[in-house]
Amino acid sequence: MELRFGEKEEQLRAEVRSFLKEQIGGETGGGSQLGSRSDEDFQRAQAFNAALAERGWIAPAWPKEYGGLGASIFEQMVFNEEFGYFGAPDTGTRGFGVGMIGPTLIIHGTEEQKRHYLPKITSGEHIWCQGYSEPGAGSDLASLQTRAVRDGDDFVVNGQKIWTSGGHRANQMFCLVRTDPEAPKHRGISFLLIDDIKNTPGLTIQPLVNMANRHHFNEVFFEDVRVPAKNLVGEENRGWYVGMTLLDFERSGIGTTAAQRRTLEKLTASLREGPEEIRAKYRTKLADFVIANNVGRFLGYRIGYMQSRGEVPNYEASVVKIYQSELGQKIYNFGVNLLGLGGQLMPEEGKAPLGGDLPESYIQAVPSSIYSGTNEIQRNIIATRGLGLPRG
Ligand SMILES: Cc1cc2nc3c(=O)[nH]c(=O)nc-3n(C[C@H](O)[C@H](O)[C@H](O)COP(=O)(O)OP(=O)(O)OC[C@H]3O[C@@H](n4cnc5c(N)ncnc54)[C@H](O)[C@@H]3O)c2cc1C
Repeated sequence: MELRFGEKEEQLRAEVRSFLKEQIGGETGGGSQLGSRSDEDFQRAQAFNAALAERGWIAPAWPKEYGGLGASIFEQMVFNEEFGYFGAPDTGTRGFGVGMIGPTLIIHGTEEQKRHYLPKITSGEHIWCQGYSEPGAGSDLASLQTRAVRDGDDFVVNGQKIWTSGGHRANQMFCLVRTDPEAPKHRGISFLLIDDIKNTPGLTIQPLVNMANRHHFNEVFFEDVRVPAKNLVGEENRGWYVGMTLLDFERSGIGTTAAQRRTLEKLTASLREGPEEIRAKYRTKLADFVIANNVGRFLGYRIGYMQSRGEVPNYEASVVKIYQSELGQKIYNFGVNLLGLGGQLMPEEGKAPLGGDLPESYIQAVPSSIYSGTNEIQRNIIATRGLGLPRG
């Protein structure tokens, strides 16, 4: 059996690849996602998204009437694979905008909401962040307490969100709020869009600096924040079901696998050129990781294949999430060790081997088993929905 993409996808891949080489030269590391490194990185990500927007490549899989190209799942996989491989930067437009709120609005939004918001995503103007988690609500998200009370044409919001990735860069936030505290916890939640968050009275964004010393996420406080009722998505108190849509058009995580492959290629080159004793020590382990990376790639392709047949991946996506996140942690740890003491130098250090990508990626990979649903929760999903075991 020969597994490969069709001619059309390979032509597209050549086009995307030459665009990426021209735009970013392939030198960007994973750490610049969401512009977490510096203001300059963020501006570069904005310029990159503007160049994508010109080609209609911000949301290629969206229907044409919403500013996409109507690309197939396989074509979108090509985009994601190449973007992952070259470390294409993002601002929150593609990840949160195209990956989360856009598809949610396409399904649950009013015509007016679709007409207003979707073109601002595909133009790169709107940079979104996600206000779901709270200090007392993470895995058990339905325990969220941020309160919204209807007052005339507005909701008045009070409470707090946490771990809001890119909140300091974003101009828009989608969030879950409690509108009926008396109802069973999943039934008293609503889904709200907050516009122009930097200029919204009562809304404060406080930085949370992570262990890589990057300002990636934030705490967001709401004190009598007025949100127009027209910004409600779906029905009041039915927001839980809106919030769980997460109908990403492509959920294979193939970009993550491609980024790992790029790292393995760089490590292979470094071993080939480096001292014999280092080569002898690491060569078979490197071979193991290349095999594991290929397994991850095919697990990802399986998800794309299911989606192309109109099937909705369920526990299969959990398998991919666990496999790719835990493999990434091992690969980046391996890479840091292979490069020796210098392998601990971060990108800011001029002499950092391989541009300092390894320690940056290593630290950034640590939370990958926490976000997007922790790996323990994913294992519960595999046990119950995949293996049919009763809830423990
Ligand atoms: C880098 C990063 C970026 C993030 N970005 C965002 C963002 O932009 N917006 C946003 O809203 N949130 C964001 N989050 C928050 C993320 O969604 C939560 O951290 C995650 O849902 C886990 O919640 P928690 O941290 O409250 O941990 P908890 O839910 O308190 O879990 C603590 C531990 O208990 C385990 N556990 C909990 N319940 C179970 C169970 N039923 N079975 C087995 N084990 C269980 C968990 O797996 C974990 O190990 C981000 C998190 C990280 C790390």
